[in-house]
Amino acid sequence: MSLSFWEKESFINYDFIIVGSGILGLSVACEIKENDPKRSVLVLEKGILPSGASTKNAGFACFGSLTEILSDFERIGEAETIELVKNRYDGINILRERLGDEKTGLLNYGGYELINGDHLDSLERIDEINNKLKFIFPDITFELTNFQISEFGFNQEEVKAMVYSRFESQIDTGRMMSSLIEYSGSLGVKIINGCKVDMINEKENYVKLITENYSGKEKISFNAKSVIVCTNAFTEKFYPELNIKPGRGQVIITKPVKGLKFKGVFHFDEGFYYFRNFGERVIFGGGRNMDFETEETSEFESNEIILKDLKNKLDDVILPGMEYEVDYSWSGIMGFNDSKRPEIKQISDRITAAISCNGMGIALSSFIAKKIRKIVDP
Ligand SMILES: Cc1cc2nc3c(=O)[nH]c(=O)nc-3n(C[C@H](O)[C@H](O)[C@H](O)COP(=O)(O)OP(=O)(O)OC[C@H]3O[C@@H](n4cnc5c(N)ncnc54)[C@H](O)[C@@H]3O)c2cc1C
Repeated sequence: MSLSFWEKESFINYDFIIVGSGILGLSVACEIKENDPKRSVLVLEKGILPSGASTKNAGFACFGSLTEILSDFERIGEAETIELVKNRYDGINILRERLGDEKTGLLNYGGYELINGDHLDSLERIDEINNKLKFIFPDITFELTNFQISEFGFNQEEVKAMVYSRFESQIDTGRMMSSLIEYSGSLGVKIINGCKVDMINEKENYVKLITENYSGKEKISFNAKSVIVCTNAFTEKFYPELNIKPGRGQVIITKPVKGLKFKGVFHFDEGFYYFRNFGERVIFGGGRNMDFETEETSEFESNEIILKDLKNKLDDVILPGMEYEVDYSWSGIMGFNDSKRPEIKQISDRITAAISCNGMGIALSSFIAKKIRKIVDP
């Protein structure tokens, strides 16, 4: 048994094949089609749904909190940090233009960083940072908003100061990804789900993608002139030399909390913890720093140590004295490279692999997708 003539004619050969239908893969597909509708573009996705980080995240449309920016200054230098902040902000704006705020569920309630006793010295640098970012944002980026600590009901023993940014927003992750899939389809991008790419073989003038799926007894392969690998945490299978490591993230969601006092996206502990409202619910994630070793995995499982820590922090810091119930929890898998920066790697003239995200893919992916398109289809 083999593929029919019709299947071979109409389903197998493309100008571009993208592996992975997360936000990055889909954004690359859209960029290629928006730039030239005549290009044929196929996206192959191993899951029935996108199955990495893009449908599992917390939905922060953020560019970096004050202490994250200061810690990145030390790690990668000022110029690179500021460029990254700009790329994230540009990326959010590209996504907004592409889909519109209704289809991403974007709400601009702003973002806040909760500062504990260990990071109070960072507050002295707010003016300096605002000054450095003023060419990116149309107004002051960060401002102190300590009076809201009690208004929001946070534990004042733990939260010593709070920094607000009006440019951070929240999205409805599910609605955004569903809209992006729909929009890709409207451009003529084909997506095949439940199709796991097993091998990527470069031939003389095309690339052959061998999948784990069968037509009768024959494995199905697809051919493309150019392949873009957007498999994030799962890239090691194809290109271990890129050293992209998986990092699992745990998330819990409460049932609607009666009288919830805050709206917005919130970060603390240099971004290791993050929470937000979704209507009257609270979505709370992070805590990988509690158990880094176990969380360096691509298995979607829960980690009881971290879930317990998240619940303790809900009780002690975020919702002290409030009645609430955890509804359920889930996990998602991020990809991290050594530099913690987006990377576009040309494996050959016909194969490009990209990782944009390192935990901030909502913001960065649309920007990186534009750069990828310029490389693969100049
Ligand atoms: C818990 C959690 C919270 C987060 N919160 C935020 C946040 O609030 N804000 C933010 O900006 N970012 C957040 N992130 C990070 C963000 O979700 C990611 O940076 C982004 O989704 C990465 O997109 P991607 O397309 O590169 O990768 P992914 O979404 O991981 O997509 C990769 C895709 O490739 C597919 N794939 C893998 N191997 C194969 C194969 N062999 N064949 C076919 N398909 C394959 C996978 O199934 C997957 O769908 C969070 C991540 C997690 C896990």
